[in-house]
Amino acid sequence: MNLLNINQTLKNEPAFRIKQIKKAIFYNFINSWNETSNIPKKLIELLKENHSLEIKYQLFNTPKNKTKKALIELNDGLQIETVLLKHKDNRNTVCVSSQVGCPLACKFCATGDMGYKRNLTVDEIVEQILVFARLEKPSKITNIVFMGMGEPFLNYKNVIEAIKILNNPEYFNIGARKISISTAGIPSGIKDLKNEKLQINLAISLHAPNNNLRETLMPINKKYPLQKLFKSLDDYINQTGRKVMFEYLLIDKINDQEIHAKQLVKILNNPLYLVNLIPYNEINGKIYKASKPKSIEKFKNILRKNKVQFTERHYFGGEIKAACGQLTTKN
Ligand code: SAH
Repeated sequence: MNLLNINQTLKNEPAFRIKQIKKAIFYNFINSWNETSNIPKKLIELLKENHSLEIKYQLFNTPKNKTKKALIELNDGLQIETVLLKHKDNRNTVCVSSQVGCPLACKFCATGDMGYKRNLTVDEIVEQILVFARLEKPSKITNIVFMGMGEPFLNYKNVIEAIKILNNPEYFNIGARKISISTAGIPSGIKDLKNEKLQINLAISLHAPNNNLRETLMPINKKYPLQKLFKSLDDYINQTGRKVMFEYLLIDKINDQEIHAKQLVKILNNPLYLVNLIPYNEINGKIYKASKPKSIEKFKNILRKNKVQFTERHYFGGEIKAACGQLTTKN
């Protein structure tokens, strides 16, 4: 796909024509230029020549089609995965990748095992949403989470530019409050985000309540230990007044003991901090197991008793390896 520079091609066209063409791509979600009508032949030829609408991908569905995964082939032959989560309340969330692979090598995550290939371009980020917008129409894509492959804050510029396009009424018109970035904790990204004046949501993959444990699970913690991370979050909250969501995987006997819950209570001492407890999706070849229901209950009770607000993420997409931390293009 090559669409975001279309303004250049249309620069001598009247305003109504530009609007018409953008509407065809980003509202009617056409698959081919032949689906348009009332556009002069010459212009159509020009568009066909310079702005391919084609996106190469393979689709995988769960049995009830609640989750769909697209394995997208990029122009240079590399591949990425993107996931659509269809919720009962008609929300359609696309889980977007920001990089091919990931350099952070979190021990529990399958994407980390792929290594890092490169950052995605703005076009490559946006086309992930286009794939599902075309498939699901007339239903709309309502929510976007940057929780696919890669670390969004290591591709900061392109991720923010893509978000502005998703948010723009002339393009996808997805509300900023319906867009979330998840980061493993890159303080410079958190700092830059607070100055963007974008009402998007910030989520932090925390997964451990102390530096020793977090370092063993997430090597990035050596570079940016919890003190640095929380300093950037305090600044973010002071400036924006927005909530911060902490993702906390529950891994059997590793980070799900009472001591961990108590440490978590201590560090999450701000009313704008929320926790999202995530069941661990087991990965072939990794030693980690999902927490036992009994430990999860105990963990939640400690949070409850100490008035730490939390939610629980539900299991999605495991059948097609589309769940969190399972995205890898190897299989
Ligand atoms: N790099 C960013 C974006 C990826 S988001 C980040 O770390 O936030 C993907 C989320 O899935 C992260 O919270 C990640 O820690 C989590 N995850 C990784 N492996 C997982 C697994 N096996 N089961 C459940 N969640 C996992």
